[in-house]
Amino acid sequence: MTQEKVYKIALIPGDGIGPDIVTAACEVLDKAAGRFGFRLEYEELLAGGAALDASGEPLPQYTVEAAKGADAVMLGAVGGPKWDTLPTALRPEKALLGLRSSLGLFANLRPARMFPALVAQSPLRPEITAQGMDIMIVRELTGGIYFGEQGRSGRGEERKAYDTEAYSYPEIVRIARIAFGLAQGRNKQLTLVDKANILTTSQLWREVVKEIAPEYPDVQLDYLYVDNAAMQLVKRPYSFDVILTSNMFGDILSDEAAQITGSIGLLPSASLGLPGKPGMYEPIHGSAPDIAGQNKANPLATILSAAMLLRLSLGEEDAAAAIEDAVTKVLADGYRSPDLLAPGETAQEGMLLGTLEMTSAVLAAL
Ligand code: NAD
Repeated sequence: MTQEKVYKIALIPGDGIGPDIVTAACEVLDKAAGRFGFRLEYEELLAGGAALDASGEPLPQYTVEAAKGADAVMLGAVGGPKWDTLPTALRPEKALLGLRSSLGLFANLRPARMFPALVAQSPLRPEITAQGMDIMIVRELTGGIYFGEQGRSGRGEERKAYDTEAYSYPEIVRIARIAFGLAQGRNKQLTLVDKANILTTSQLWREVVKEIAPEYPDVQLDYLYVDNAAMQLVKRPYSFDVILTSNMFGDILSDEAAQITGSIGLLPSASLGLPGKPGMYEPIHGSAPDIAGQNKANPLATILSAAMLLRLSLGEEDAAAAIEDAVTKVLADGYRSPDLLAPGETAQEGMLLGTLEMTSAVLAAL
């Protein structure tokens, strides 16, 4: 008799709508697991405001250790007005940075996909959105200018400030390999976005990416300067597959791509470290304190993050694809949460759903 596969998932619901959307994602994960012959064991952990309230610190050591020992980490969102006046070291957001660094999460994956049923949500013209869009942005997360040496000096008109960007070969090669690997499983096209006409760090990125490209002969590699990439994303979003870029450029371009899809309630993300280490999966939106506890949160971004978890950390591709198909079907059937309505648009009779009903619709489609 073959033994049932069991995976350990560290669950960090967090604050605001976090607990509602994480509960929704677990129900969907469990249903997919039952259908595809594996089981998930969850351990619920505290981080963010919830941890501050319970223990006085945003990221208890126990949470870090338990997350490290899991196969993957599923996070809702952290933060809220209750903790906004605390000193920086005690802000709930510190938990995110702490988890990223303790788990060594250097690659941030932000897919931006246009659902056919929601093209009216996009700020782009219909002739562009009609051609679809399915982009995976791979952003370096732990290096570059956000982590470089910075300084400030002088007073009055003598004030000066500087930030520096540094990247090393190992930092570039490990994320480039993730991006090439993802491209191999998708449309086999990789675009490196940089500013190699000016920045020496960008020149190193190009050099390193070119050096390893022959190991991935099935992937077509091209390059774009970041200013041009920002323009091409709105002009021809349908023509991109995987975009690989540095921390700051990825920060900006992933938000641009998110806006093109029209709803942050639909966008998942993954953060990955070295192979074999747990990845962390979360929606790109925050804890939405304005709608917390009102059954108004759209759970789909978290459910789609759960699908990424199955694919990228557990290798359960069929279950991941089944969840994504179920979400596509629910949207195609006309079901909407309030955030998915374009300005002035109303849902059809009986099609406007809360968190619980939207989750049930996905479960039914699965
Ligand atoms: P937000 O993403 O929480 O909310 C922005 C707007 O989008 C709000 O109107 C909210 O109601 C709506 N929204 C967000 N997610 C939604 C969903 N799933 N369904 C329906 N509507 C949704 O951003 P914010 O208001 O700037 O931040 C609120 C808190 O979240 C802050 O404390 C912030 O620091 C924190 N935050 C956390 C994360 C994270 O945990 N990764 C990310 C961003 C912001």
